[in-house]
Amino acid sequence: MEILNSNKSIFRHWGADLIALLFPNLCNACGNTLFRNESLICTKCLYDLPYTDYHIHADNRVAKQLWGRLPLNAAMAMLYFRKGAKVQNLIHNLKYNSKTDVGLMLGSLLGARLNSSPLYKNIDLIIPVPLHQKKQRLRGYNQSVFIVQGIAEKMDVPFSEDTLIRTISTESQTKKSRYNRYENMKQVFEVQNKEAIKNKHVLLVDDVITTGATLEACANVLLQNGAAMVSIAALAFAE
Ligand SMILES: [Zn+2]
Repeated sequence: MEILNSNKSIFRHWGADLIALLFPNLCNACGNTLFRNESLICTKCLYDLPYTDYHIHADNRVAKQLWGRLPLNAAMAMLYFRKGAKVQNLIHNLKYNSKTDVGLMLGSLLGARLNSSPLYKNIDLIIPVPLHQKKQRLRGYNQSVFIVQGIAEKMDVPFSEDTLIRTISTESQTKKSRYNRYENMKQVFEVQNKEAIKNKHVLLVDDVITTGATLEACANVLLQNGAAMVSIAALAFAE
């Protein structure tokens, strides 16, 4: 009986190795094969990612970019986003290759940083930036929801994905100036459930911050509809 059991476990082991050989798990950042004890991202990439440490600096570049545009409690991004680099690979896999676990994992890393920061104490509710309805239908999911879930679990704070919604699809934003983009955005977001945010400190979450126009519009709508305070956190900051 014992021999049979050990044979079974050998076969199970051998089977797992064969599956790993045929379908290797690859690092979502560098594409190298993962070791058995690694998941989603290899140890080297995890240590080498370009972390900003913005969560411990109130006057970081993301916060400065939004200063004077609206009253925020705090703003940060965890990583620097550079084209062709590891952070872009991670976010590409999350957004376009259905690697939603990457969102949970990066959200968890982000949540751990926010937990260690005095700027992000007393958050009552976490809300993702809503996606264009057309895009969400096409993609099947909003990547920011998975980032939010990772943060919420780490911080032990509730989240809501249907409190803030996008009412209409905007046309392509790329050719517009920053002012026009903001004016265009203002019409787009709506709070569905004002009770949920009333007098609350809301953490608003996005994947990548570029101009900040989307976050600015979302935060303004939250403040106009009764939120006491808004803080912002993103995975990455495109310089
Ligand atoms: Zn790697």
